[in-house]
Amino acid sequence: MKIGVPRETAEGENRVALVPESVKSLLKREGVAIVVESGAGDAAGHPDAQYEEAGASVGSHADVLAADLLLHVAPLSAAEIGELKKGQYLISHLSPLTDAESNKALASAGTTALAMELIPRTTRAQAMDALSSQATAAGYAATLRAAQESGRFWGMLTTAAGTIRPVRVLVLGAGVAGLQAVATAKRLGAIVTGFDIRRAAWEQIASLGGRPLELDFIPDAEDEGGYARPLTDEENQQVRDAIDQNAARQDVIITTAAIPGRAAPTLITAAGVANMGPGSVILDLAAETGGNCELTEPGQTVVKDGVKIVGPKNLASELPGHASQLYAKNLENLLGLMITGEGNLTLDFEDDIIDAATITHDGEIRGERTAR
Ligand code: NAD
Repeated sequence: MKIGVPRETAEGENRVALVPESVKSLLKREGVAIVVESGAGDAAGHPDAQYEEAGASVGSHADVLAADLLLHVAPLSAAEIGELKKGQYLISHLSPLTDAESNKALASAGTTALAMELIPRTTRAQAMDALSSQATAAGYAATLRAAQESGRFWGMLTTAAGTIRPVRVLVLGAGVAGLQAVATAKRLGAIVTGFDIRRAAWEQIASLGGRPLELDFIPDAEDEGGYARPLTDEENQQVRDAIDQNAARQDVIITTAAIPGRAAPTLITAAGVANMGPGSVILDLAAETGGNCELTEPGQTVVKDGVKIVGPKNLASELPGHASQLYAKNLENLLGLMITGEGNLTLDFEDDIIDAATITHDGEIRGERTAR
């Protein structure tokens, strides 16, 4: 069985699906061969020679496309889906809950596609959970970017030329990315406040040294799956009003709030931006799914009322070395459920991880949420 690693073509994508260390480890399996497209790992710090040293062959785009299984990072473009051959396996981020056209195209191409976004958030699947590994990279990168954009020291400094007070940072949304942002901002010395509509997250913010913003007039919004449920219009309004007011006290706001499969909720309005002092920064990690700030422009940095609003689209890709290393490990662990002792690919739909992640097989779209 041959695994192919194509070069990523999405704009700004610096990650690669397999790093040489994972190549080495996958090649320990009987009957497995790996071909990596020349240059695929360059932006992540892995030149072709490292893959060859690890035992892979380095080939052309056509060589990689001939593989039985393709491993990808970014969702594929329509042109890339058009290159797949019938019966081929593909594992990648695929935006399965928001990109119906790709789901249909993958099914009609006869591809067996597994979407990394649909790996269940269970204890058993943790080592394959790319949403978490990449959110960790994104939360860290967001904080470093916000620090750089702020033009300030973040920690307190006492110098001969005067004392610098620490910056005040508010992190909105305290899932994996938000908690990493809280932790990273604390390490830089900031005074950090965090907010989430799931009450369980308040304790987690505190455990990292942040102060939870306890808006307790909102009932706990955690659903049975552990995710946030969408708020009612009235609840949303209450949250927005409270955050718009709190914004006046912050130098930096990092926003990470998301509801799976939906547009990001608006948490900071134009009025909230106007409440912040000139020179403040909003780093909107949710920019790609619409943004948590009303004035965010995805992929752009804009200045409104003297406040810099930064809307990066692919923050995990700003740490391509480690983000790729973690992603590759997630894939390696998932492949552990799919490669037989003889090196053949198999799909066991009795396995809840395989069942949840496989979105197309035998020309059909699978899974109720994906089909919807
Ligand atoms: P996510 O990226 O879907 O959302 C980010 C955060 O935004 C979430 O914490 C959410 O509660 C919050 N949010 C949504 N609407 C908001 C609003 N209006 N205001 C403020 N915050 C809002 O989240 P995620 O990082 O994928 O994590 C979501 C859940 O999954 C958490 O409960 C986490 O503990 C759980 N999880 C479990 C596992 C596991 O068990 N393997 C792994 C990772 C995450």
